[in-house]
Amino acid sequence: MFVAIDDTDSQDRMCTTYLIYRIIADGRYDIIDEPQLVRLNPNIGYKTRGNGALNICLGKGSGKTNIIGKISGKYVYSYSRIEEEPDVNQLMDYVSSIVDEFYVRDDDKTNPGIVISRTKFNEELYSTALQEDINIEFIENYLRGRAVYKKFKTGHGIIGSAASLAWKGQRYTYELLDYRYPHYTGLTHEEKMEISKIPEKYASTFNNIDTVNGYPAIFPKPKTPVVMGIRGIVKNDLINIYEEIQNFHKIQDDGYIIYRTNQGTDDHIINNPDYISDMGSYAVTGVISGNPYTIEGGHSFVSLNYKNREIKLAAFEPTKEFRKILLSLVPGDIVTAYGSYMAGTLKLEKIRIRKIATLYSRENPLCPVCNVRTKSKGKADFRCPSCHRRYKTPVYREINRNVSEGFYEVPVIARRHLAMPVKLNNYFYGSGIHDGVM
Ligand code: ATP
Repeated sequence: MFVAIDDTDSQDRMCTTYLIYRIIADGRYDIIDEPQLVRLNPNIGYKTRGNGALNICLGKGSGKTNIIGKISGKYVYSYSRIEEEPDVNQLMDYVSSIVDEFYVRDDDKTNPGIVISRTKFNEELYSTALQEDINIEFIENYLRGRAVYKKFKTGHGIIGSAASLAWKGQRYTYELLDYRYPHYTGLTHEEKMEISKIPEKYASTFNNIDTVNGYPAIFPKPKTPVVMGIRGIVKNDLINIYEEIQNFHKIQDDGYIIYRTNQGTDDHIINNPDYISDMGSYAVTGVISGNPYTIEGGHSFVSLNYKNREIKLAAFEPTKEFRKILLSLVPGDIVTAYGSYMAGTLKLEKIRIRKIATLYSRENPLCPVCNVRTKSKGKADFRCPSCHRRYKTPVYREINRNVSEGFYEVPVIARRHLAMPVKLNNYFYGSGIHDGVM
């Protein structure tokens, strides 16, 4: 039986993944397959942090076993098959008691929702939840007759819960989340930076550390039960990295769970759409149609002609050194821009410069007799200051552009959970680089 939970945390407290940890730690049900952490529309206003929803399959399991975590020093396993489904009402009572115990009550924005279903849902719901703002009535209608659900307060969380059950997981990565309840405070910033370098040594991991901006990305900023989160594509590497970190710097934790996730997959990106709507995320290929500029606050912009409409590409101040790339673009450059769209502006997550326009500088010709630069005396009139010979045509010289074709992405400090890091292009798309389009 699939159980999905969302919207139990607030900006600075708790983390919905911790509730899944508690369910697993209780050991009341067997776990079937891998627990899932599903990120949804990154443009949704009511998200607290990364708009993530969770689901897990519970029951009596059989078949092959697979490590999904380590709790109190012992590995925890899941089964590959479900042998016996649990009673839905009992399951709902149990999961509700966990949500009831841990959700952040005193925040209006925290509105938990639980969905329990024997089957997963149609993938269309997942795609919609990545692009649009779905209303709760739509989800309640959708769930009627399909699943049971429970709302706490407004119960807005049933939207994310239901959508997470519609993720089929064709493309996926893993995240190992390590916990300490209520939270772990034993590390200085310098220690966090040092520890973050450990996963960075493994080619299969991503978004660990931003050395330029001094940001240890595996450690969350708010005080939640999450000690650290390590992302990667090879589960065994994550298990080894955890042990390496513990050997390097003993962290007093309760245990960790490894989630299968849609993080780093670009699942939210629609390639070259005919229609672009607010709240959606896209990859659009077009021609740069204006000169870049920066406004107060350090936000940089440039316009792109995409299918005969103008889109403003934005690299906001938090994207730090990435803004230099945007500022190096000139009219005529052909690019594919990736990001989320709102009110005419595409907030960039990455950009692929496909073709650099050739720029020329116009210079007065040299006098071939005296080898001296001529002086301009009017239109098509260049005179040698030495012998006074006249020449009609200027010289055009190619300007060396300080940028090369290829992919550029925002630094780790500004990266979104769903955005596919450039280093994963090959993993997901093989040698045929992800064009986005064409
Ligand atoms: P965290 O990352 O710490 O888990 P969060 O950013 O996921 O926090 P939530 O507390 O889960 O934030 O709140 C997100 C809310 O948005 C939930 O109520 C969820 O049901 C809802 N939601 C998610 N996707 C959509 C969507 N496409 N349309 C409408 N509501 C959505």
